[in-house]
Amino acid sequence: MTVLVTGGAGYIGSHMVLELLEAGETVVVLDNLTTGFWWAVPKEVTLIEGDMGDQALVGRVIAEHGIEAIIHFAARIVVPESVADPLGYYLNNTSKTRNLIECAVKGGVKRIIFSSTAAVYGDVKVNPVTEDTPQNPVSPYGRSKLMSEWMLQDTARAHGLAYVILRYFNVAGADPKGRTGQSTAGATHLIKVACQTAIGDRPEMAIFGTDYPTPDGTCLRDYIQVTDLARAHMAALKYLRGGGESGIFNCGYGRGYSVREIVDVVKQVSGVDFRVVLQPRRPGDPPAIVAEAARARAILGWQPIHDDVAAIVGQALAWEKALRVRNAA
Ligand code: UDP
Repeated sequence: MTVLVTGGAGYIGSHMVLELLEAGETVVVLDNLTTGFWWAVPKEVTLIEGDMGDQALVGRVIAEHGIEAIIHFAARIVVPESVADPLGYYLNNTSKTRNLIECAVKGGVKRIIFSSTAAVYGDVKVNPVTEDTPQNPVSPYGRSKLMSEWMLQDTARAHGLAYVILRYFNVAGADPKGRTGQSTAGATHLIKVACQTAIGDRPEMAIFGTDYPTPDGTCLRDYIQVTDLARAHMAALKYLRGGGESGIFNCGYGRGYSVREIVDVVKQVSGVDFRVVLQPRRPGDPPAIVAEAARARAILGWQPIHDDVAAIVGQALAWEKALRVRNAA
């Protein structure tokens, strides 16, 4: 029973691969290495450098490795980039996911776990959001993922696939054992940017928008630790193998932190009072989004164990320092 992980050389995917290996699974990674890194994939894993939209390649991989389940991470994930390049996002995240799903159908793969996002909810009126909160994405990124959810649902109905769609809130932190982390060059995510500023890789950082209708005027997000998120996929895999019904599950902790709060935690944990500048709102950012994640706990049996924002920041800082050493070598 081999699991195919698309995007397994990337941030969340590389944590997933470690969890799968620890559970004794056989893993094949498909990654085009545009944002992922070959060194993020452990040596015992087969790494295929290629595109998940390449049907000839994916078809061959499924047949040759006897793929039983696909965990699909490969995607572009930067909200403002998606606003500037919608067609790139629809090609990469939507069209290529369509190709991948078709390969799964043709190759007889019966289980797919799909990385979706809280961005499918958009500008929500009420928090926390449940999986049944109306989806109204405000960015091409969110729309590209919602379209993929629909394709998966429709295909599952027609072709007897079983799926779990996980809607991630804000993924952060790194492997607590320091084996992998968020390595993407030019990353834009808040905790990574703040950690890079704390260790002096950036002279300053910006807070985008201080006039949101939130307690301190900055956006509220629900930050989930990356290993906990990988563990949610493990729970989903077990659930599907046990005959569980297809479904959609939020992955977050149910607690919102403002941008200012996160910046303060990074300052405290790092002990560095780095420079922060206040800038206008960034396009595509909803003011607040926090998960109601009871369904994943109740149905998948997911039990998060890393819900601690200071520890998450500590892991992210440690990884940033390790990356600096690696990049200097
Ligand atoms: N943010 C910020 N400065 C940064 C990066 C992010 O103020 O350098 C804010 C961003 O505007 C949003 C929140 O931090 O309100 C989380 O953004 P991130 O890009 O980490 O994740 P997103 O919620 O967009 O997926």
